[in-house]
This record gives sequence, C-alpha cells and structure tokens, in this order.
Amino acid sequence: DTDKLKRLKTSKSATLDGTPVELMANIELLSDIDAVKAAGAHGIGLFRSEFLFLNRSDLPTEEEQYESYKAVAEALDGKPVTIRTLDLGADKQAPWGHTVADNPALGLRAIRLCLAEPGLFHTQLRAILRASAHGRVRMLIPMLANFVELRQTLQRIDEAKDSLRRDGLAFDEGIPVGGMVEVPAAALAASFFADQLDFLSIGTNDLIQYTLAIDRADDSVAHLYDPLHPAVLGLIQQTIRAGAKAGKPVAVCGEMAGDPLLTRLLLGLGLRTFSMHPASLLQVKQQILRSHLAELPALTQRLLKNTDPDRTLTLLGRLNG
Ligand code: PEP
Ligand code: MG
Repeated sequence: DTDKLKRLKTSKSATLDGTPVELMANIELLSDIDAVKAAGAHGIGLFRSEFLFLNRSDLPTEEEQYESYKAVAEALDGKPVTIRTLDLGADKQAPWGHTVADNPALGLRAIRLCLAEPGLFHTQLRAILRASAHGRVRMLIPMLANFVELRQTLQRIDEAKDSLRRDGLAFDEGIPVGGMVEVPAAALAASFFADQLDFLSIGTNDLIQYTLAIDRADDSVAHLYDPLHPAVLGLIQQTIRAGAKAGKPVAVCGEMAGDPLLTRLLLGLGLRTFSMHPASLLQVKQQILRSHLAELPALTQRLLKNTDPDRTLTLLGRLNG
C-alpha cells in the first residue's frame, strides 16, 4: 500500500474532472526538506521559522537566518518557498524575551510581538528578503487581525527593503507577501486583507481555537475542538470566496489540509491549494485523484448548514463514499 502511494509522487495532481490542485508542504527544520522532495510537493506552503529561535538562549543573527532561508530556497530549486515570519508566543514560547501573560493566546504573540520588537523583526525581514535572491521566496505574516498591524507590517517590509538597497544587497523586488487567516476577524474581513496582500493562507489550527474559544493545548476541552463546526466551515468558505473575488490565491495550511477525510470537504468549499505535513501529502493526493469535483459542493453545503452532531459523520461519510 505504501508502495502504491509512493508511485503517486510524480502523477499530476488533479481531480477526476481535470481541475489541478496544488499540494504544498509544511516544514519546521531544514532536515524536513528530504521528506518534501520524497512526497513530490509543489513547494513549501509554510516554513515555521520559529524553530530557529526555540531551545536556545540567544537570538539567531541575520546571517544565520539568511543561511537557513537561503538553503531552503536553493533546495527547492525554483519551487515556491513560503517563509512565515516569527510566530512566537502562545504555544511557541521562547526562553528569552517577554514574560508569559495570563492569556498568551490572546496576548503579544506572532505579528504583535514582531511589531513590538522592531529590531528583531527588521533582522528577520532582511534575512528573508536576502534569501529571496536565491529562489522563489514568499513571505507570510501570522495572526493578522487589525488593519493597523497590516499597514505597519507592510511599512516595516518597505523599510527592510530600503536598508538592503542602501547596503547594495540583492533581493526579489516583487516578493509576494501573504497573510495568515487564523483569527475570526481576519476571516470575516478577508476581502479587505485580500485586497492588500498577494495571497492568503488559512491557519485552521488557530482559526478553530479562536472561533470556538477552545485552547488548542488544553486536553480538558479537546473533545470540543471541532473542525466540522458550521461556524468554522463558514469562515473557511468565506475566506476562499473573498480570495477568489480579489483574484488572490488562498491556501489552507492548518492540520485540516493534511487530513484525507477532509480533502473532499475542502475541495467542496472551493479550496485548490493545500499545505500540510509532508507525510500526509500522498494520501491527500490519492483522495484528490479519486474525486469528482462536480459532486462535492451540494453535500458540502449540507454540512455547512448541519447542526445535528450525529448527522455530521453521516454527511462526511457520504462525501467520502
Ligand atoms: C495554524 O494555526 O493552523 C497554523 C498553520 O499555524 P501554527 O499551527 O503554527 O500555529
Ligand atoms: Mg497558527
């Protein structure tokens, strides 16, 4: 069975109706690149850069970050590499820096932390921009919720570009900048974010946490962490539609994208770019290869309107049947 899956590596990724679907990989470490290649991914949809910053007492320098980002860009050989700017705080605490708030998931995390620490952010932005001279690098901003943050972030990127020009260092002037949709406010206002960004990527891990008010790391409420809640599905659908309307690509890079039981549901919601742990990629591809796109939207819409928890699994079973 694994041999059969492995043979899918080079087959074209498309539904039975011939609609192409992009399959990207999530990575955390440089050593994950082998698995990305083994799965035949179209690129990296999420490089979680926090892992360069964790388990150490000092900060990585611009050179150190640049070397890591460049290594990924070069290894992917012209395929897209989406580097997420720092998402520290909440479930990813660094040993240095800020004290942990009572409510870290609602506190100074991700882009909020980066905007509060301009030196740290500037260093990372320069390193990512410099790496963009060596491959098809894209930049992804985590946890956007407010338009002030978006404007400040785009300003900081412009400042980093200016400083590189002054230093005579090369970078891709047209580097795409995308935003993660993982706060319900960002999903509800997705069209405004889509207008000002080059692409969106839905982080369902956090989107579910914030929509349902379920701490993703708290076992005592894990049974209520529900990717199939109609409110969650509605926010995903709304974001995909907003992207389509603005002509901007939308991906899902949370765990939902790597669950083959949810592949048809996401296709039915209009998703055409999935980014996941490389180990899940060929299973998801197999599911895509077996799917008739035309059959999916009707059942998907019934799931979106379903409030009977017993019926949810029946409907999902029919979608996958
Ligand atoms: C997400 O929230 O879905 C996501 C992809 O980011 P992370 O899991 O790193 O928070
Ligand atoms: Mg997240």
